[in-house]
Amino acid sequence: MNTKDSQCVQRAIEVATKAHEGQFRKTGEPYIVHPLAVKKILEDWGMDEDTIIAGILHDTIEDTSLTLEDIKKEFGESVAFLVDGVTKLSTARNGMRDIDTYLPATKDNFLRLMIALGDDIRVLIIKLADRLHNLRTLSALPPDKQKKIAKESLEVFAPLADRLNMGRLRVEMADLSFKYVDPRRFEELKTLIEKYNKSAEKSLKKIKEEVAEALKKEKIHFEISGRVKSVYSLHKKLAKHNQNMGEIYDLTALRIIVDDITDCYLTLGVIHSLYTPMGGRIKDYIAKPKQNGYQSLHTTVITKDKRIVEFQMRTKEMHEYAEQGLAASFYYNEQKLTENYKQGKIEHLPTNLLWITELQTTAARLREGKKVDLKKLKLNLFADKIFVYTPKGDIIDLPNGALPLDFAYKLHSEIGDHVVGVKINGKMSNLNKKLEQGDIVEILTSKNQTPKQSWRKKIFTSHARAKLFKALRIVHDPTNPTESAEPKKKRKPRIRK
Ligand code: MN
Repeated sequence: MNTKDSQCVQRAIEVATKAHEGQFRKTGEPYIVHPLAVKKILEDWGMDEDTIIAGILHDTIEDTSLTLEDIKKEFGESVAFLVDGVTKLSTARNGMRDIDTYLPATKDNFLRLMIALGDDIRVLIIKLADRLHNLRTLSALPPDKQKKIAKESLEVFAPLADRLNMGRLRVEMADLSFKYVDPRRFEELKTLIEKYNKSAEKSLKKIKEEVAEALKKEKIHFEISGRVKSVYSLHKKLAKHNQNMGEIYDLTALRIIVDDITDCYLTLGVIHSLYTPMGGRIKDYIAKPKQNGYQSLHTTVITKDKRIVEFQMRTKEMHEYAEQGLAASFYYNEQKLTENYKQGKIEHLPTNLLWITELQTTAARLREGKKVDLKKLKLNLFADKIFVYTPKGDIIDLPNGALPLDFAYKLHSEIGDHVVGVKINGKMSNLNKKLEQGDIVEILTSKNQTPKQSWRKKIFTSHARAKLFKALRIVHDPTNPTESAEPKKKRKPRIRK
């Protein structure tokens, strides 16, 4: 217990400790370690006291004999509301319990989850803290669970953190998860980044000094630091650029934090007077913030020793917001924001996080028993994505337009290669049927099935296409001695001079 803790927080710790007494985590530690870690994370994010108390109590309703009434009596409506929200959130996802009291209109667990938390975004923030700690301690779980949790975090929770512009959280979650989802690739890229940084160290130091000197001459106050690219974001970027390292320009980035917006642009000028800017690489996210509210001024330059370096200029507020996102705005603006949430007015959100408003409105309408066309509810959150489910309830994300074979290949190429049919929401369907948000998709396979040429027309994603082509090559190449799934490492040139 911390002496800084208020009486209320101390009381919550007592109550949670007692409630979880005798329970242990897979790590072998007493269970209370987990809620206390969640408390610490929420404190680091600068969350308000109600959220911190709810964080301490977040697993009590589901896992202990404590009831919502108990919590309401002792800690008040607001805390009880948050704990209830977090509980609903996890049960909605487990599909274990019924939250249908006000969400009868959809079987889409993900949508239900979003609507359930649309009421108060702090519920989601607690959930993210909970997930972060679970990821940090993932090594204690059996491998199949590790993979499942990691995959879901990568596909659902890290993008959510991104939507809330919680950059630091997104990076940590994505890298922790990616390590379990694809351990080999993770190590490979991690080593690559480390090597690169090491090789760049000396020249970066010089660049920093040059920039510092020039900025001082212009009397601009600044802080300059290097930012390291996360493993997962490099992985994603490489996938976008056909694995061509030559097209990754932001492996090394220097971040310059200045006093105000004018200084951001002045600094840009200073940098362009020192180095050659690369064409088309100036991005003004100050004038035009990203959808999640991210603001910064980016430019990529070629330095005197021919190194490509990205610079990011921003103010302190922009920086704080880029790292902490919505949580940061609680820190800066706690009272006002919290009040607004309670009153259902959130037009004072610091950025265009308008999808939150949309969710809140929808949640309110549903609770009032009004009709809501959920299909029309375009959650900006994942505008171009759909979430579908395996019969076991695992969430699989696909681009909008995906077909059953895309789903099958996304599960595993062994499954994709042997598809004989598909059931969608329990009914036999066909391979041309476009999947829709919330569908439960069951792939039927037979070990005698082989991939068909005709499948080319029944595929939407490039991921599935690549896998199918690989399979077709093996099937139709009788001279191929190995049917190994490993790609050929090197191909000898056909013509030699
Ligand atoms: Mn938990």
